[in-house]
Amino acid sequence: MEGGLIFRSIHEFENSLSMSDRIAVLKRQPEGLSWIARLADNPTAEFSGKSPSEALGCLLRGNGWTMSEVVLNMDPDRSNISAGHAEVLIRVRRPGLETVCPDCRGSGRYVGLSVVETCHACGGRKVVHC
Ligand SMILES: [Zn+2]
Repeated sequence: MEGGLIFRSIHEFENSLSMSDRIAVLKRQPEGLSWIARLADNPTAEFSGKSPSEALGCLLRGNGWTMSEVVLNMDPDRSNISAGHAEVLIRVRRPGLETVCPDCRGSGRYVGLSVVETCHACGGRKVVHC
């Protein structure tokens, strides 16, 4: 599965994050033979590969994304492949996969008469799956 990943140029990374954007954290394993990729907000699910792009490809497939659905941008300030570390912005292009939570209208909170609590519909994520 090599060769499918192209790290786009850096400038796009500067664009503000939308709610469906995710950050992938890539780390070379101490023995130097493999890489681990995980989502920054889901550190328990790790995917390994022989190279950064292979590990990232596994992570994408593991989350149900195909290469045509995502745009990848490596963060230049947080990435040093030769040093064994990289962070990649994953911009998911699939429309309608997640939408602003209709219950809280994207605030992540439920405001009752006397209390403010985490929105039950989205669990505070501010988006819901369609
Ligand atoms: Zn909500």
